[in-house]
Amino acid sequence: MSESFKELDGAFVAGTYNRFPVEVVSGKGAVWTAADGREYIDMGSGIGVNSFGCLDDEWRQAVVAQLGKIQHASNLYYTEPCAKLARLLCERTGMKKVFFCNSGAEANECAIKVARKYAADKKGEGHSTVITMQNSFHGRTLTTLAATGQEHYHELFQPLTPGFVSTPVNDIAALEACVKANSPAAIMLECIQGEGGVNVLDAAFVQAAARIAKEQDIVLIVDEVQTGNGRTGKLYSYMHFGIQPDVVSTAKGLGGGLPLGATLMSEKVQGVLGFGDHGSTFGGNPVCCAGAISILSRLTDDFLAEVSRKSRHVFDELSKAPGVQAMSGIGLMIGIKPEKPAGDVVKACMEKGVLCLTAKDKVRLLPPLNIPMETLDKALAVIKAALA
Ligand SMILES: *Cc1c(COP(=O)(O)O)cnc(C)c1O
Repeated sequence: MSESFKELDGAFVAGTYNRFPVEVVSGKGAVWTAADGREYIDMGSGIGVNSFGCLDDEWRQAVVAQLGKIQHASNLYYTEPCAKLARLLCERTGMKKVFFCNSGAEANECAIKVARKYAADKKGEGHSTVITMQNSFHGRTLTTLAATGQEHYHELFQPLTPGFVSTPVNDIAALEACVKANSPAAIMLECIQGEGGVNVLDAAFVQAAARIAKEQDIVLIVDEVQTGNGRTGKLYSYMHFGIQPDVVSTAKGLGGGLPLGATLMSEKVQGVLGFGDHGSTFGGNPVCCAGAISILSRLTDDFLAEVSRKSRHVFDELSKAPGVQAMSGIGLMIGIKPEKPAGDVVKACMEKGVLCLTAKDKVRLLPPLNIPMETLDKALAVIKAALA
């Protein structure tokens, strides 16, 4: 028998991850195959990354075609996929400029740099604070940890980047007071807090944040790293809330499985970054961008309506199922608050061949957006049994 790579990993990979005991070797669509030959239905898509599941034919062809040309050129030169993806993102959102990077944290770093430079350019010194939300998640770099409104992530890594304060979600008065006290560069939020437990923010609160930002010339940053790229049944989740952000950061599902992040800039801030103000060696990699074009160009209205239809089906099936206290989320970003500990439910599902995620005390589902109904139903039957 071949060496277990679970043991190799345990010996040599930094111990930052509490992995499930599944050794993944391959996959097709929404089904993964493990080293022992077992198949699993994937209800997490690698934390919302494999938007069209594993090795989707069109995505794979796009990636392989680009690999046959050049794999990387650096940002010293022009490449076609990078330019075309930027155009596609702007056409689909009304944004004006895109900065490409490799991850969600980096997309947020860029967003924060844009906001701080905008404030410095427009208002001078003393307006650098970024207001974020309690219970948010924005990444693991020292700056995006500072933006993350969860103390337990901060403790071991002081001092973090200064200039961040957090305020409770859905409390407009508290936000107004926080803005008054800090004269901030930016208000930063996730319309649906992902890692924070799949909490959908009140539309009135999101709209108030947008109104305050507009009135006081503050940059509104919406973190769409998890919620973006069709996950919620709209291209970006802010589109459910009737607002137009100044900056949108995204990553996870954008590349369909390859590392790619993007920061989208509206008319208001499009001119903020000039030569030398920001950069990334790998950002806008042509192979990753070719994959992203394949994903984004298929997120049509019809396709997104199908995502919403599948979402309604999941809510219909699980909302009143035994062992379910409450459900949350939009589209195929779904939180289930179980009566049992969420970890126990996920473990029981795994033993029956279905891979789910958790977020705080919830079971979290982020299946591939194109998961076939039949596969979804198989997974739901297992999840239902595990919840009961
Ligand atoms: C995952 C996530 C991030 C961090 O993305 P990385 O690619 O891991 O850096 C940031 N914000 C949100 C909302 C996320 O879900």
